[in-house]
Amino acid sequence: MTAVRIDGVATAATVRGELVDRIAALKARGIHPGLGTLLVGADPGSLSYVAGKHRDSLELGIESVRVDLPETATADEVRAAIIGLNENPAVTGYIIQLPLPAGLDENAMLELMDPAKDADGLHPMNLGRLVLGVAGELHSPLPCTPAGIVEMLRRYGVEIAGKRVVVVGRGLTVGRPLGLLMTRKGIDATVVLAHSRTVDLADEVRRADIVIAAVGVPGLIKADWVKPGAAVLDVGITRVLNAETGKAKLIGDVDPGVAEVAGFLSPVPGGVGPMTRAMLMSNVVEAAERL
Ligand code: NAP
Repeated sequence: MTAVRIDGVATAATVRGELVDRIAALKARGIHPGLGTLLVGADPGSLSYVAGKHRDSLELGIESVRVDLPETATADEVRAAIIGLNENPAVTGYIIQLPLPAGLDENAMLELMDPAKDADGLHPMNLGRLVLGVAGELHSPLPCTPAGIVEMLRRYGVEIAGKRVVVVGRGLTVGRPLGLLMTRKGIDATVVLAHSRTVDLADEVRRADIVIAAVGVPGLIKADWVKPGAAVLDVGITRVLNAETGKAKLIGDVDPGVAEVAGFLSPVPGGVGPMTRAMLMSNVVEAAERL
């Protein structure tokens, strides 16, 4: 492998370590940061992500409140759980674990959240602030995965300003907000947001200095699509169950051969996933600091 490995596990541990003193300072002021999660259904990926978020909270001394509803929960039951989290004083920030089961309107549910407690930065008020805030400081939470991606690039010294970034995938949690974040003044990337209707994706990727793959198609990004020396961050996750061991293996969107061409590579697993969780902890602490 020739690419420098962008290690999300180590970077996430550093980010969490930087929160320790801030959490202690909050507690000294009598403010106890608390993370809430709302999970509907039993998707194996979602169950594992929610468990990880509570493990991180516990490690940092952040209170955590977990609300789990069955796959069959009605829209009224989900709405009631959201109102409950809005009103729970022990919860200073919370997330609705996405995706919600089919039949539940995700955007309508996100809109019901108290924007001040939106730890994922996905409430329309906070996304709107990201759209409006082309320059200057933002005093609202940023979506965790895009924020984690920018943080990883910065910490590994990958230049972003003026560079051509191709983001593959226009989903709510990664692609769409990432384009907004990376084109803010001070970050200054030129972003191409590609998707399933993009004509000649390989050609778009070949012209990129930085490639972010957030699709969910294993091995989509091939080695001969990547400009030598480019930074490639794999975000896509496909869970493949091993019938013998019963354990799930995570496969990313980036073909393993890309490691021989790219200058930097953030792998799956061990890359953007752990950083997403660390940025969630950071958002919970920041929300408590705003109280
Ligand atoms: P999503 O909403 O389903 O979006 C997937 C995107 O990929 C869509 O924009 C789709 O295009 C595009 N796409 C599908 N097939 C394509 C192809 N062959 N070529 C180009 N684009 C294609 O998913 P998401 O929520 O954004 O998540 C994307 C992936 O990232 C998933 O695998 C998810 O598990 C992973 N993820 C990881 C983290 C993390 O922390 N590591 C966080 C969030 C998500 P259309 O819009 O045209 O359909």
